[in-house]
Amino acid sequence: MTDSKILTLHEDRYFSSNPEKRKIAKRLYETVGHLPLICPHGHVDPRLFADNTPFPDPTELLIIPDHYVFRMFYSQGILLEALGVPRVDGGQTESDHRKIWQVVGDNFYLFRGTPTGMWLKHEMRDVLGVTKRLSDDTALEIYDEIITTLSKPENLPRAMFERFNIEVLSTTDVPTDTLEHHRKIRESGWNGKVVPTFRPDNVTNFLYPDWKANIDKLTEISGIDCSSYKGFIQALETRRSFFKELGGTSTDQGVTTPYTVELSAAEAEQLYNKALQGRASADDACLFTGHIVMEMARMSLDDGMTMQIHPGSNRNHNDIVFRTFGLDKGVDIPMATDYVNNLKPLLNKYGNEPRLTIILFTLDETTYSRELAPLAGHYPALKLGPAWWFHDSREGMLRYRKMVTETAGFYNTVGFNDDTRAFPSIPARHDLARRVDCRYLAELVAEHVLDLDEAEETIVDLSYNLAKKNYQF
Ligand SMILES: [Zn+2]
Repeated sequence: MTDSKILTLHEDRYFSSNPEKRKIAKRLYETVGHLPLICPHGHVDPRLFADNTPFPDPTELLIIPDHYVFRMFYSQGILLEALGVPRVDGGQTESDHRKIWQVVGDNFYLFRGTPTGMWLKHEMRDVLGVTKRLSDDTALEIYDEIITTLSKPENLPRAMFERFNIEVLSTTDVPTDTLEHHRKIRESGWNGKVVPTFRPDNVTNFLYPDWKANIDKLTEISGIDCSSYKGFIQALETRRSFFKELGGTSTDQGVTTPYTVELSAAEAEQLYNKALQGRASADDACLFTGHIVMEMARMSLDDGMTMQIHPGSNRNHNDIVFRTFGLDKGVDIPMATDYVNNLKPLLNKYGNEPRLTIILFTLDETTYSRELAPLAGHYPALKLGPAWWFHDSREGMLRYRKMVTETAGFYNTVGFNDDTRAFPSIPARHDLARRVDCRYLAELVAEHVLDLDEAEETIVDLSYNLAKKNYQF
């Protein structure tokens, strides 16, 4: 084995190469590198911690839950079937996880310079103790090594959660979820804090697959008849309070655009009835969703839950992949998003309310300095979520700080969230975010914009306090 095959994680990674800035960044990192992780938004399956059974193998652990991985492979002509992604029609896909891992090893070089590459290296070195770089000729040796590592009790999901120093982990759950796994975790006596997030898209968006069936489920689970708009709203309120009882502190909405509109109850009811009869158009769905965003703000003022909005993704862009493999296969593409006009009704009604926290995300970086920072730098209710998805990256987070800070400051942002399905990538993602913030602050100190002690205080806020405060943990 040559030295070039050793998997290294340089202690100064992602800091500036300028010696003075690097020295300051290192000093800032020393104050936050080991702080507990607040994970206020993500998609880890709570069943992991309810059951606490061993992770079966590296493919199941690192590859299958991560659509960042297979979108890159697909772009290079590797079929999703070869990666074991299940087909909607139940057709044949690769089930031999060793074979899939070999494909990953053969093609790992594709991730050079990408956040996925950075996260996976960190996970393998720091979480799983792998010392060789993943490649075509090391793949199977590393596979067997990770299998042995995963069989040890210290690598059970709950033990990993503790080792990662996670203070709280939010999952994302639909209103029709029984939250049985959350209940099981609480009743087990384990101290790990895993809480739900209320995300009602499957019942608020008429265009959602199985919308009508989801409404029936909502009736069943809430005990409130949702055959009227009034009942539907009551059911949402009841489910929110159930989520709160199980530790939930926030809601989320994934919307195509951040369009908001206030309809009268009669207008909303008319749209809802139309949808129940299967006659709602795409425009009806857009109007209703825009109205429900307003309703969710009203409910948040009542019950105190923090509100998140994730707009701007053109979901399932590739028809063939969608038809063959379904949702969430790495084919959601960012699109231009208008916040200023779309959010005006919401912000005029609720934006001046300091008791309310609305956390806004974007996939459209052109809006950072033109729209989002000016809005968040004015409306007391509005805060900016961290650089999201494709921009949750070394350069993406730097661009975010550079374009947002001068207008919105640091304190209209809410710290980092990992937004991941891939549980073992959580420490790597937080570490990258902390290092990028250290890098950004080090530049401000080196250029005498901030004194070192101000930066030392700020980096603790960005790494820990702001997420805790805005998500109410
Ligand atoms: Zn998310």
